[in-house]
Amino acid sequence: MDFELTEEQELLRQEVRRFAEERIAPGTRERDREHRFPAEVVAEMSELGLLGMLVGEEHGGGGADPLTYCLAVEEIARICPSIAVTMSVTNSVCCWPIARFGSPQLQREVLPELASGAALGGFCLTEPGSGSDAAAMRSTARRQGDGWVLDGEKAWITNAGVGKWFVVLAKSDPAAGHRGITAFVVAAEWPGFRVGAAEEKVGLRASRTAAVSLEGLEVPDAFRLGEVGQGFRIALATLDHSRLGIAAQAVGIHQRALELAVDYAKERIQFGVPIAEHQAVRFTLARIATELAAARALTRQAALASESARDAGRLASQAKAYASEAANRAVWDALQIHGGNGYCEDYEIARLYRDVRVTTIYEGTSEMQRLVIARHLLAS
Ligand SMILES: Cc1cc2nc3c(=O)[nH]c(=O)nc-3n(C[C@H](O)[C@H](O)[C@H](O)COP(=O)(O)OP(=O)(O)OC[C@H]3O[C@@H](n4cnc5c(N)ncnc54)[C@H](O)[C@@H]3O)c2cc1C
Repeated sequence: MDFELTEEQELLRQEVRRFAEERIAPGTRERDREHRFPAEVVAEMSELGLLGMLVGEEHGGGGADPLTYCLAVEEIARICPSIAVTMSVTNSVCCWPIARFGSPQLQREVLPELASGAALGGFCLTEPGSGSDAAAMRSTARRQGDGWVLDGEKAWITNAGVGKWFVVLAKSDPAAGHRGITAFVVAAEWPGFRVGAAEEKVGLRASRTAAVSLEGLEVPDAFRLGEVGQGFRIALATLDHSRLGIAAQAVGIHQRALELAVDYAKERIQFGVPIAEHQAVRFTLARIATELAAARALTRQAALASESARDAGRLASQAKAYASEAANRAVWDALQIHGGNGYCEDYEIARLYRDVRVTTIYEGTSEMQRLVIARHLLAS
């Protein structure tokens, strides 16, 4: 498989890197410390077209291929993983399923606003009692006249409180198990969509995450996404695709951890020489770099295969599980190279240590990825 970037992809990568370094990097530390969502930076990202990359040009989006999208997420995550998840969620778990499964009318209604970045999107699947076992959700969708009424509790919803359009999964036929789940698109401003207090997270503090209550939320049938009972399939397909974004986020964090570790190892003097002269430190740097190359290659392979290959889901799970775990190891090791300084918020590696942790958890834990991978292996 050819991982050579096209000229266009390389130009975009460079443009996003420049934007991240010039416009995102200043203020990253303060936003993290204040748990502040950077609305002003997100507005600039919309001007660059980064919030509607996966929407077709006919709706005002960028029509980017999955690899180009991953390159952009990686470059943003290298500087600010919080902003990378804001971007990844609106693109890949909101825009993508609507572009893929929405009726032409629904697409016309919501995609231009999402694609332009005038509105952010989100995805309401997880509930207090159902995470990995998403089909055990208890939220319900009841028929009422021409439309639906949604009730239930959703948990851990990224962009809740700052986003407008949300893909929501609920049981339209609770007796039918996962075949009784239907997907809808709802606006946060509709009566009955209530956002709870922002979670005080370990990391990604400049991204917004909150619980959402659905309280008699009335949804016109035109805002149903896909067929009745097709919701679980839509959710799984969405996650298969969106995991690429999380893998790319992990690669971006990993890249930054390597840069910080190399710089620090060259500067810090112990026993009369830079610590980079000590073989144990060199071996650690070599391992971080090698795992970075492997994680990036796996992510690019999964991105290139994502819209065609039969085993796109397996590759996305492999990329997500490997890249997120490798990034966690890399940040751990890079912090170790920083010694006591790494344990202090004055050093960027301390924030990355908090930010990277969740990558093995959200959009399916590593354990769930391994179950997906094994299922593919055993089915063939
Ligand atoms: C910052 C953040 C943002 C998030 N954003 C969103 C969002 O926008 N939308 C959304 O819907 N959700 C979101 N989530 C939820 C996230 O997807 C879930 O946290 C994740 O799927 C895990 O579910 P859980 O937390 O309920 O853990 P659980 O499912 O309770 O799992 C707990 C542990 O048990 C393990 N486990 C469970 N079942 C098995 C099994 N069968 N075999 C082996 N091990 C198993 C898990 O791997 C894990 O280690 C977010 C979470 C976080 C932390």
